Amino acid sequence: MNVLLHVCCGVCASVAAERLMCEGHTVTGYFYNPNIHPEDEYRRRLDAAEKVAAGIGFELIEGPYDRERWFTAVKGLEYDKEGGGRCLVCYEMRLRKTFETMKKKGFGAFTTTLTLSPHKCSSAINEIGRKIDEDHFILCDFKKKGGFSRAGEIAVEIGIYRQNYCGCIYSLEESYERENGKKKKTDEAGGSGQKG
Ligand code: SF4
Repeated sequence: MNVLLHVCCGVCASVAAERLMCEGHTVTGYFYNPNIHPEDEYRRRLDAAEKVAAGIGFELIEGPYDRERWFTAVKGLEYDKEGGGRCLVCYEMRLRKTFETMKKKGFGAFTTTLTLSPHKCSSAINEIGRKIDEDHFILCDFKKKGGFSRAGEIAVEIGIYRQNYCGCIYSLEESYERENGKKKKTDEAGGSGQKG
């Protein structure tokens, strides 16, 4: 199957692409993440995804970085805890765009790297994918069978950046509060240690 794989970051893309390719699929990555804040963090994650695509051997397409659309979509849910309503909207927005791109460009199926993260509920992500189009969505749970530790190994092998917060401005603030017990000025970003 010719699969369009939504790519949230390089680390997650590595295992997801490797597994899909082992199953006989042809993989094209689709980096669509208007949630990522700030823009230099977006560039850092895109660069890591490009390195992984080159290292593993698949094409990567960049989607639009339409941040305003993302902020509009999550309006009213800004201060939901990570994993709550804001995240469900964020997953759906990215999966729906991947599905639309799949149709537009003639791919046979779509799925996402998002289930690699131990911080994300794979069944909620799969449910959203099924709701968008159950005939074309590939159910997955890339964190299973040691997926997360394998992703760490590949990240070291390829030498890519690993983020320490999920991606949006609100997760950046939450991460800073967890680490420092106080609010962060949200124009700052970066760090090491995977969280996504
Ligand atoms: S915490 Fe992550 S999944 Fe949730 S809204 Fe922010 S970027 Fe999206």
